[in-house]
Amino acid sequence: MRTLYYSHPDFLFHETGIGHPECPDRLRSIEKALSAPEFSGLIRQSPPLGTERQIRLIHPQFHIDAILEAIPEQGEHYLDHDTVLSPGSKQAAFRAVGAVCDAVDKVLTGKADNAFCAVRPPGHHAEPQLAMGFCLFNNIAIAANYARQQYQLERIAIVDFDVHHGNGTQAAFYNQPNVLYASSHEMPHYPGTGHPAETGVGNIINVPLAAGDSGIEFRQKYTHIILPALKIFKPELLLISAGFDAHKDDPLASIMLVEDDFKWVTQELMSVADHCCKGRVISALEGGYNLKALAASVAIHVKTLMTDRNNIE
Ligand SMILES: [Zn+2]
Repeated sequence: MRTLYYSHPDFLFHETGIGHPECPDRLRSIEKALSAPEFSGLIRQSPPLGTERQIRLIHPQFHIDAILEAIPEQGEHYLDHDTVLSPGSKQAAFRAVGAVCDAVDKVLTGKADNAFCAVRPPGHHAEPQLAMGFCLFNNIAIAANYARQQYQLERIAIVDFDVHHGNGTQAAFYNQPNVLYASSHEMPHYPGTGHPAETGVGNIINVPLAAGDSGIEFRQKYTHIILPALKIFKPELLLISAGFDAHKDDPLASIMLVEDDFKWVTQELMSVADHCCKGRVISALEGGYNLKALAASVAIHVKTLMTDRNNIE
């Protein structure tokens, strides 16, 4: 497969302070893992800076302005007790938006089959008018609306296997039937949303997992709920909020996935995309806070994206 890999040094300059789990070392550990010879086939991309126009596809201008005005000239500024701004945050956040939008361009014009965007800050907790949960702008939601606006897509699915519910993505599309948002997440847990009764206009699918659940329950929920819904919806583009904090070694949650579960879900999502939308998948990093587990999980996710499934089906 022609798989794009987006990374950029700017993502390291979004500083969150000593001891913060959403740290630049996350990307250093991913970069190191993906420098192995088996990843030599990746098409490495240096993303452009995103634009305010792209961010406005989800966030109002006053929200953008408020974040930019709060960026400190030195040190850190806390938007809430865990969402931090530093002098490099604008470059990083705009570069993250640029990465996912460039991936949309490349995949939808057939220049690549799929893409993984190793971005910081993450995005899925960012609501249209509220930065929270380490997230400033909602990268994957912006990508969805960018694809709808630029390529007139009528059905886009976003699958979110981060261990936390993507309240921001849900909020962005709660009344929009042409975007399906499906999330598996630990519940009860941060941010508190994601109950199965939150269904939007039939386009929101929330699948809670209980603390201690493993790949058995995770795979059952995808097999019986999320994958069938995707097949009925028939997306023209499949986006993934790829958080790896449901790993058993992650310090921020209590789900017991292992690397092979991330491989499985990636394969299953690629299979849906093969059937519905010529395999078009764009995956963007969200959480994942044990550096070793994150690197190994991203590696198997990206390796799976690179693997041609035509002979498997
Ligand atoms: Zn998370």
